[in-house]
Amino acid sequence: MHYSTEPSVDGKPRLLVIDDDPALCLLMEQMLGAAGWIVRSARDGLTGCEIFAREHFDLVLLDVVMPKVDGFTICRSLRATSRREDIPIVIITGRDDFMSIESAYHAGATDFVTKPVNWTLLPHRLKYILRATRAFSALRKSEAHLSIAQEIARLGSWEWEPSTDTVSMSIQASRIFGFQEAKKITGYARLFANVQARDYERVVRRFTEAWTERRPLTVDCRVVEGHCTRAIALRAEWIPDGNLGDSILAGTVQDVTSQLEAAEQIQRLAYYDALTGLANRLSLKERLNEALEACTGEGGQCIVLFIGIDNFKLINETYGHEIGNAVLLQLAQRFQHSLKNWSMALGGPTGAAMPLVARVGGEEFAVLLPHADDRNRVADLAKALRDVSRDVFQFSHVDAILSVSIGISTYPNDANSAAEMLKTADLARYEAKRLGRNSYQFYRSTIHSRSKRHTIVQRELRRAYEEGRLELYYQPRVRLDTGKISGVEALLRWNSEHLGAVDPCEFIPIAEATGLIIPIGEWVLATALQQARLWQRNPATDPLRLAVNISPCQFKHPNFLQSLKHNLSSEDWTDRLELEITETVLLDDSPAVRVTMDAVKEMGIRIVVDDFGAGYASVNNLKRLPIDVLKIDRSFIGGLPHGARDAAITSAIIDLTRSLQLGVVAEGVENIEQLDFLKARCCTEIQGYLFSEAVPAVLIDRMIAMHHGALPIIFGRSPSAP
Ligand code: C2E
Ligand code: CA
Ligand code: CA
Repeated sequence: MHYSTEPSVDGKPRLLVIDDDPALCLLMEQMLGAAGWIVRSARDGLTGCEIFAREHFDLVLLDVVMPKVDGFTICRSLRATSRREDIPIVIITGRDDFMSIESAYHAGATDFVTKPVNWTLLPHRLKYILRATRAFSALRKSEAHLSIAQEIARLGSWEWEPSTDTVSMSIQASRIFGFQEAKKITGYARLFANVQARDYERVVRRFTEAWTERRPLTVDCRVVEGHCTRAIALRAEWIPDGNLGDSILAGTVQDVTSQLEAAEQIQRLAYYDALTGLANRLSLKERLNEALEACTGEGGQCIVLFIGIDNFKLINETYGHEIGNAVLLQLAQRFQHSLKNWSMALGGPTGAAMPLVARVGGEEFAVLLPHADDRNRVADLAKALRDVSRDVFQFSHVDAILSVSIGISTYPNDANSAAEMLKTADLARYEAKRLGRNSYQFYRSTIHSRSKRHTIVQRELRRAYEEGRLELYYQPRVRLDTGKISGVEALLRWNSEHLGAVDPCEFIPIAEATGLIIPIGEWVLATALQQARLWQRNPATDPLRLAVNISPCQFKHPNFLQSLKHNLSSEDWTDRLELEITETVLLDDSPAVRVTMDAVKEMGIRIVVDDFGAGYASVNNLKRLPIDVLKIDRSFIGGLPHGARDAAITSAIIDLTRSLQLGVVAEGVENIEQLDFLKARCCTEIQGYLFSEAVPAVLIDRMIAMHHGALPIIFGRSPSAP
């Protein structure tokens, strides 16, 4: 006989007959085979079990009375080993053998047929059994799917029968209500046994209303189970109950804790800054709009302070983003603390009048004062915010220092809307930064005209450059031991047709921002070198060092070296050429900067670190990089000799240059006291109005010629041409 071990592929049901009567087995095979079944048979129970374990069947026909092992035992064993609990097992018994029928039921049989077999009815009988089984297993399957879906959705179902006041529920519902696994409870109020106290009354009231008015039920609340609280949502509808004529309330209950948390998280993300936990730009705008509305109604004033960190990029670049973030976080805390102290001193405003600190950009914060009339008090707050920013930010291996610039705008004086307020506050902040960082500024309408001026300067500068109307002046540098002019620094001058003389401190940053500094810088280098060649040919002015300022973006420009080489001729005294770069360039760790520095050194050119002390260059950087001279920032010299901090820093820099064997220049020397201080500290060179400001090249020639290089004479701030 050929047996297939595969489940029927052609859709025919497969039947296993276990009977010790060979004639019966044969008949089954033929009769049922003709009715569309695939029939396998076994002559004893054990063989039957073996075949059953190996192959797939849709139904088993099992004789009760067999030698060795009887049908009940086999039935039990089939049930125990089968993976399919719903497989129908039909037993074959004697017509009046009620005992066997009963025993087979307990052994797990599905149905029975009696001997002698009615061969006409049997195929139909089996077809009915098979259909019932399939319907049952489909129902099981869909229940299982539903149960999984409910589990995933944290959803349970329940129904309440008003006539008996009983609630039946799914396992999921039972768990969500906090009953472990109970499936039925009496008394609807018990359903809410775990609802948190402050929700309880409301929930029961809603339930009874739904009951008396036959309305759908919708109620959300929280249930408490041990230490955890969950948010749940109940929904129910009245449906007719077929049996009793009365309706039942059929409902769902869903655990919505995670949805609620997600919604709260979205709210947080939308309105709060993730790093500092402060309000973000969006919530500032909303609060500001509310405050402006209130002001318009009550006729009050509302103020925004816009705070920008002056050198945040530098901190990030120097110490990395992790420290940068830690600084921002600490700064946010300091701001909150200062604001709290400040408003406490005012008696602690409440509600809508509460001030707010927000982080509105990467390195920008804002403070909103919804009700503030006293300018002096606002200035006090600005000072406090500035001062807390100035304190060192200490981390295990790093001390970071920063400063902030603060712009202040007042509604309705300076602006008509929230957007305009932020804009004017930002303009005022720029002004504060321009006037020397680490300060605050109230908005004034002149600031607005300044931003217009920025555009004009930009346009005019490009024209002046293109028309060749920029000039180079030279400021002498003096050696303190000989009193002789040892070098000059080339400084740009621009006397604009329309704007008059424009301060380099105004137009250089604009040129840097627009990239115009690249061609201008090239022109400066070419012009200064041309002049240097003239001085070199004159014995009186040789040897004179020439210092040229190089902007960071110029130094880092890929064509810089090429342009430098292009401008130098072979006979140039490169060892007398100096490039002045700022500390920010030293902080750039990129290999390109290092390559440029090394190449510059290779050409014999000296590197001067300009404005030293103002930035962040570490001693390590100074040791590592090929540097020749430090130029002490003129802001320190300005504080000499009485400013203790400036005096200490100046002395420390001079000592540092001595130990690193670097040259040192003090710039911005304006009076004799400063000169004396520097002499006493053995500073080697100085530069400043005390001797001369920057002058046209011919005046340098005359200074040297008149005094044979030594300088007892002091040129005033505006030297009249001799
Ligand atoms: P800097 O390189 O620090 O130049 C020194 C500045 O201090 C010059 O200002 C000079 O006129 C001024 N100064 C000299 N002696 C004294 C003094 O005794 N007291 C005071 N208070 N100031 C003094 P200037 O010429 O206005 O230049 C400002 C800045 O513009 C320069 O600062 C430099 O950063 C930039 N700059 C000027 N020319 C160029 C240039 O050709 N290229 C680039 N990239 N930047 C330039
Ligand atoms: Ca300089
Ligand atoms: Ca300088």
